[in-house]
Amino acid sequence: SPKSRPGLLDGLDPEQRAAACAPRGPVCVLAGAGTGKTRTITHRIAHLVRSGHVAAGQVLAVTFTTRAAGEMRTRLRGLGVDAAQALTFHAAARRQLRYFWPQVVGDRPWELLENKFRYISQAANKAGLGTETELLRDLASEIEWSKASLVSPDDYPAVAARTQRDTPAPASQVAEVYRNYEKVKNTAQVLDFDDLLLHTTAVLEEHTVVAQEFRERYRCFVVDEYQDVTPLQQRLLDAWLGGRDDLTVVGDANQTIYSFGGASPRPLLEFTRRFPEATVVRLERDYRSTPEVVALANQVIGAARGRPAGSRLKLIGQRPSGPVPRFAEYDDETAEAAAVARRIRDLLDSGVAASEIAVLYRVNAQSEAYEQALAEMGIPYLVRGGERFFARAEVRQAMSALRMASTDTYTSELVTHVRSVLAKVGLTDQPPAGGAAKERWDALLSIVELAEELASTVEDADLPRFVAELEQRATAQHPPTVEGITLASLHAAKGLEWDAVFLVGLAEGTMPILHADGDDAAIEEERRLFYVGVTRAREHLSLSWALARTSGNRRNRRRSRFLYGLIPEDHPAARVARSQQPKQSGSKARCRVCGGPLLETLDIKLGRCSRCPSNVDEQLLEKLKSWRGERSRELKVPAFVVFTDATLVAIAEQRPTDDTAL
Ligand code: ATP
Ligand code: MG
Repeated sequence: SPKSRPGLLDGLDPEQRAAACAPRGPVCVLAGAGTGKTRTITHRIAHLVRSGHVAAGQVLAVTFTTRAAGEMRTRLRGLGVDAAQALTFHAAARRQLRYFWPQVVGDRPWELLENKFRYISQAANKAGLGTETELLRDLASEIEWSKASLVSPDDYPAVAARTQRDTPAPASQVAEVYRNYEKVKNTAQVLDFDDLLLHTTAVLEEHTVVAQEFRERYRCFVVDEYQDVTPLQQRLLDAWLGGRDDLTVVGDANQTIYSFGGASPRPLLEFTRRFPEATVVRLERDYRSTPEVVALANQVIGAARGRPAGSRLKLIGQRPSGPVPRFAEYDDETAEAAAVARRIRDLLDSGVAASEIAVLYRVNAQSEAYEQALAEMGIPYLVRGGERFFARAEVRQAMSALRMASTDTYTSELVTHVRSVLAKVGLTDQPPAGGAAKERWDALLSIVELAEELASTVEDADLPRFVAELEQRATAQHPPTVEGITLASLHAAKGLEWDAVFLVGLAEGTMPILHADGDDAAIEEERRLFYVGVTRAREHLSLSWALARTSGNRRNRRRSRFLYGLIPEDHPAARVARSQQPKQSGSKARCRVCGGPLLETLDIKLGRCSRCPSNVDEQLLEKLKSWRGERSRELKVPAFVVFTDATLVAIAEQRPTDDTAL
């Protein structure tokens, strides 16, 4: 547009520009990781604002993680459109609900439930169920799924039966727990995270005056990572739109990683059916990663099955060539973590910034080994998502002190003001010697550091603004940002990028996670999660796994099935893969797990191939034990027995191992 300032659209390629410059109305960008979807929507917002189509304050952009929302705010700020809101669905709903509440309910807003387990436990107990942690956790996620899928307690049993859900208890009992949970929560006047969305939707749907006021205020909606929208979020989005069509969505069906929580790429893939006049743009140039990383990413997602049409684009790397991805196998997790920490030290020494390095894992519990290894080497790190920073007593105290102080008049700078408030709750000038006191001091200091960060990035940042920022982070339970290595789960890493990424713990049972085994849809979701991980790296990518959890333990783990076919020929671990390559035969049957041809009679019977790493089947193993005598003579490698990679290397090299003694 001639009206937009020169330069704004220069940083976009022709397809990105087409999406950014499309007139107001529905726009959909379907594209792979690193192709500039987020960049395109931030530029679109800036373009619409600068060319006078919409005021920045009328834009509401939503995404799924706090960090991604923060990233989007940073990019918008960089483009000079600070007033455009970029929030997670939850933060947006929370903010709106707080605003509507006095008008609609007329009382103080209900408290947000920080820990739902007490309530779930009461509800389970009342329904005659046990209260073991694992069951409560499963019940909690089942209730979360139901709410995200807009399934009421009354409808739950029928839906569970129809969709053949693997319910944590008999469906009628789950429904009762769900009903009881809603009741106890209501009595206590607290809201859980899903209630924020449910209530906001209900208010907009039922209160015309409020809805009108809202629609006056917001006119332009943008959703990033749209492939992970839940029916509940979609309904809120529809309530926001109120029949209007000023909606831009971007997403990548190959990065759907929340379908276990009720999310579905369908609204993304069917966007044009809903809005036939929509501008649709596909991007395939990858600007994030080196061609080496892009090639690996294409291979990972190329192996995925059941990919919907519209998600089969191949990424084309745009960046100069870089180092080849590294694969490494370790005896145990401690050794893996130590090696990763050493490699990080090398990267830091070679000039890579700490904030440009991430260690990504499947489950938060994996962070422990890395925290220890990094701490031992004196490398600063930050844990995202796992640590309940805002649940710490001193942090809560600090927050309430700051909240109280935020109504005072003051003249000092934010860097100084926060410090003086926190001094009252125990932030001394010098750190205590160590132990719990030092931990508390560190936690308080990170709040000060966060204030410093805010003051340096936002002009006239004041205490109320800072408190709002803290509260928003507390909603998502994310610790404040300070300079350090990022430790994060793969789920939390979505949409983000780093120069160096370490994907760790790539062993069966962790990646894919144990409970996905045998469930094709769940395995495919794990594969997409792995794809998300691979595509976070700009330049250095390391993939590692360990054969045992702790040192001295039996090395009973196998590397992830997702690694097969990725490891280069000259890598020691590749010999294993080759030793498992069976001879070709005429069979057309395909393995349920890896999709490869089935060659052996028993394979065909089982529907799984012997070289597939997920192939350890207890019954089969028993059978093999009894067959061993007759088969071992004809087979150098016990083709059906895939114990550990170490065993296979040994077998391939004709060395005796414990396992071959079987
Ligand atoms: P994801 O699916 O992982 O969320 P994405 O499609 O949103 O990825 P972005 O994060 O927007 O991708 O872009 C990836 C990287 O490529 C960013 O560093 C971005 O600045 C850069 N980039 C995107 N488009 C261009 C371009 N046209 N020229 C140069 N760099 C670009
Ligand atoms: Mg993105």
